[in-house]
Amino acid sequence: MKSTEIHCSFCKRTKDEVKILIAGEEGHICENCVANARDIIEHELSSYKASADFTQKIAKPVEIKKFLDEYVIGQDEAKKIMAVAVYNHYKRLRQRLGEEVEIEKSNIIMVGETGTGKTLLAKSIARMLHVPFAIVDATVFTEAGYVGEDVESILSRLLQVCNYDIPAAERGIVYIDEIDKVARKSDNPSITRDVSGEGVQQALLKLLEGTDVLVPPQGGRKHPEQKMMKVNTQNILFICGGAFDGLDRIIARRVQTHTIGFTANKEKEEDDRRNILKFVNAQDLKSFGMIPELLGRLPVVTYLNSLNAEALKAILTQPRNALFKQYHKLFAAEDIRLEIDPDVQDYIVTKAIEFKLGARGLRSICEILMTDAMFHLPSTRQKMFHLTCDYAREKLDKSTLARLKVA
Ligand code: ADP
Repeated sequence: MKSTEIHCSFCKRTKDEVKILIAGEEGHICENCVANARDIIEHELSSYKASADFTQKIAKPVEIKKFLDEYVIGQDEAKKIMAVAVYNHYKRLRQRLGEEVEIEKSNIIMVGETGTGKTLLAKSIARMLHVPFAIVDATVFTEAGYVGEDVESILSRLLQVCNYDIPAAERGIVYIDEIDKVARKSDNPSITRDVSGEGVQQALLKLLEGTDVLVPPQGGRKHPEQKMMKVNTQNILFICGGAFDGLDRIIARRVQTHTIGFTANKEKEEDDRRNILKFVNAQDLKSFGMIPELLGRLPVVTYLNSLNAEALKAILTQPRNALFKQYHKLFAAEDIRLEIDPDVQDYIVTKAIEFKLGARGLRSICEILMTDAMFHLPSTRQKMFHLTCDYAREKLDKSTLARLKVA
């Protein structure tokens, strides 16, 4: 190209190599560069819009907790900690590049028995923030090279839920369930050769910290021909949850010499013993088999209490989507009034505890009690279904669930 030849000032292509050259005061631009520039503008504007949306409307921690109260019973401590972590996370999104003090990510790890509301908490937070939310199970990941999914597929789920809108996904929340299942089997890595979980933990490190990740859009394993999408995880909030079976013993060993056993208040001591998880810290999780580097990227540690009868009873009726409210709505859609005797509530809770099913069991028991009515009544003229304790007992005794009864 001669320097006098008319060409695109951006890509240097000459008049013959392009279809259109638009003239400016001191140069030209070709149709390809205009199209590229438009893509860049669209991407930047949608990122800008996303960040403006999230930072301007973000609720204060007290409001976040109040919102969570509508959906999740109890678990005040976890709610408080989550509310602050999420609030700070969005403050972090507002910070400008190059500021002297940089706010770091506040990824969260929650410990608590299964069915105590860990997923529900994460889901409710995402619902409030109107951000894409994906739930993944840590047990499906294996180190690259073994059967299973690559950890990058975590982001495929996130992309799928927001219709592959990358800027939206880059501000989403990911809940990684059963994180305890990738713990290494011993605190001391030299004793055992079992590193299967550890490999997954290593793979998660970069993802959690914030980096550009090439994601297979359909998930699963990566393969060479697949087109990848680039997602930056810098502003994605990761919440990990797990039951951590046996963690209570690790905590008890550590705190025995401190808090427990030295308090004058017997009642408090008993409560501490029952809810030992409230003393959890990163050291305990390390002893359980989480690698310190991963724990370093999950700076917020919180716990969920096991649910007692009172909490289970509240779960049946109080949350915005409470089970009883849902059944009332289902019957109302058929013009049928559902009436539930007060003692049925206690009966369901007693059975859920007896079968050791926790909050998850409430749903299964309710289904057993309601299914026959939901099957027959829409084909009759009956306009009311009265659920008594006798009816409930009869249905449950006949069910397969009753055989679960633990001796
Ligand atoms: P986890 O993730 O801790 O195993 P989930 O959050 O999936 O438990 O809970 C299972 C179901 O039990 C929820 O969908 C919800 O209906 C009910 N549930 C559990 N804990 C609570 C709670 N604290 N408040 C309201 N509902 C709860």
